[in-house]
Amino acid sequence: MSESNMSAVTPLPERDLATATAPDLVTALPGPAARAAIARDARVTSPSLGRVYPLVPARAAGCVIEDVDGNRFLDANAGIAVNSTGHCHPDVVAAIEAQSRTLLHYCSSDWYLPIYTELCERLVATVPVEMGNAQVFLGNSGTEAVEAAIKLARYATKRQNVIAFLGGFHGRSLGSLALTASKSKYRGGFGPLTPGVYHAPYGDATYLDDVVFEHLCPPDDVAAIIAEPIQGEGGYVVPPPDFWPALRRICDEHGIVLIADEVQSGIGRTGRMWATEHEGVAPDIILAGKGIASGLPLSAVIAREDLMTWGPGQHGSTFGGNPVACAAALATLDLVEGGLMQHAKVLGDHLANGLRALASRHGAIRDVRGRGLMLGIEFADHDIAEAVEQTAFRKGLLVLMCGKATLRIAPPLVMSVAQADVVLAILDEVLGEVT
Ligand code: PLP
Repeated sequence: MSESNMSAVTPLPERDLATATAPDLVTALPGPAARAAIARDARVTSPSLGRVYPLVPARAAGCVIEDVDGNRFLDANAGIAVNSTGHCHPDVVAAIEAQSRTLLHYCSSDWYLPIYTELCERLVATVPVEMGNAQVFLGNSGTEAVEAAIKLARYATKRQNVIAFLGGFHGRSLGSLALTASKSKYRGGFGPLTPGVYHAPYGDATYLDDVVFEHLCPPDDVAAIIAEPIQGEGGYVVPPPDFWPALRRICDEHGIVLIADEVQSGIGRTGRMWATEHEGVAPDIILAGKGIASGLPLSAVIAREDLMTWGPGQHGSTFGGNPVACAAALATLDLVEGGLMQHAKVLGDHLANGLRALASRHGAIRDVRGRGLMLGIEFADHDIAEAVEQTAFRKGLLVLMCGKATLRIAPPLVMSVAQADVVLAILDEVLGEVT
C-alpha cells in the first residue's frame, strides 16, 4: 500500500461527541497516532506553518474536539474565531449537505447565483442605518476582503495612501501585509510591501492630526483608515471609547473611507453583530470573514453603495461566494441572529467575571479585557502566557496566545455555562502550577 493510501488515523471508538464531557485524555500528549501524523506532516508541509502545540484533530462537535488518539479537548479557540456556531452544527452541516447535492460551483463573478444574492441581502440588513444602502463583494478569506476594500477605497477616492495601526493584523498578502503591524517577523524578508501605508498607535487618534497629517501625509492624500474594533492578533486590545468616534470625525472632515476590519470581531462574537456597534460608530466599509460561514472559506466586503463605483470586471474572484460556503453562512446567520449573539454577551460576561476573579487570586494576570466571547487575559510577561497556553493544552484545554503576553478566549458561541466553568477551573489549576 502506498503511503498516501495509508491512514495515519486510528479508528475512533463510536462515542457521542455532542454530549461528551471534555477534557477527557486517554493518552499522554501527543499520543502515538498524533506523533505519527506530525512526523508525516513535517516531511511535506511548508515550514512557515507555525504550529503552537501538537494538536491533531480528527473530529469535533460543539466545543469538543477529539484528536486522532481519542483524546477529547475543550475548545476555547474555535479554530481562531472561525467555528462560530460550534463544530459541525447540525443546521450548518444540513445546509452544506443540501447545497452540495444541488450546485457546488458556478463562478459568481461571471454569472448569477441566487444564494449569493440572498447572502448579500442578509448581510446588507445587518449594517447600521447610517451606511444607507450597502452592497457586498464576497471573497474566500479575510485577506482577500482587506485587499478588495483597499482597492475599492483607492478607486472610489482616487487617492493612494492608507492609514493602519500598530498591533493591527489584516492578512499576509503583499497589500494586506503592508497594513499588518502586529509582529515584525510577519513582514521581515518580504519587502518591499505595497507603498503608501502609514501606521499610528492604536487607540490614539490625535496622532493622526499631530503627526501623520502634520508631518507625513496631508489628509486629502489618504484614501482610507483601516482598524480593528478590537485588535485580535495584536493582543485582544480594546480601544478607548473616544477612538472610533474620533476616527469617524476625521474621515468625515477629510473625505477618507473608514474601514472596520471585523474579520475576527464580527458576526456576533462580541455580543453584537458588529463590534463597531459598541462604539456607536458606522464605518463606510465593514469586512467580515472567519466566523461568517462556521468554518467554510468565505469573506465579505460590505460597503456603502456610493463607494461601490467600480465597474464590471474591475474586481472579481473565481471561488468567492461559492454556493456551499454561502449556504453555510446563511445557516450561520440564522443561528447567530436566532440567539447565539445574545448568548455570546451573557456567556462572555460570565467568563469575564470568572477571569477577573482569577486575576484577584493570581498576580501574574495583569488585565482581563474584551467584549462578549472575544476575551483576552494579559499576563506579566510572554513566558508566563506561553506556559499557561502550553500547560492548558496538556490538560485538554485549547487556548491561544496573541500579542506579546495575552491569551485569547474565543470559544465557539455555543459554549455552555458548564463548559465555561471548566475553562475557568482549568485556568485556575494551570495558574497555580506555572506561577
Ligand atoms: N483581519 C483580521 C482582523 C484577522 O484577524 C485576520 C486573520 O486572523 C485577517 C484579517 C486575515 O484573514 P485570513 O487569515 O482569513 O486571510
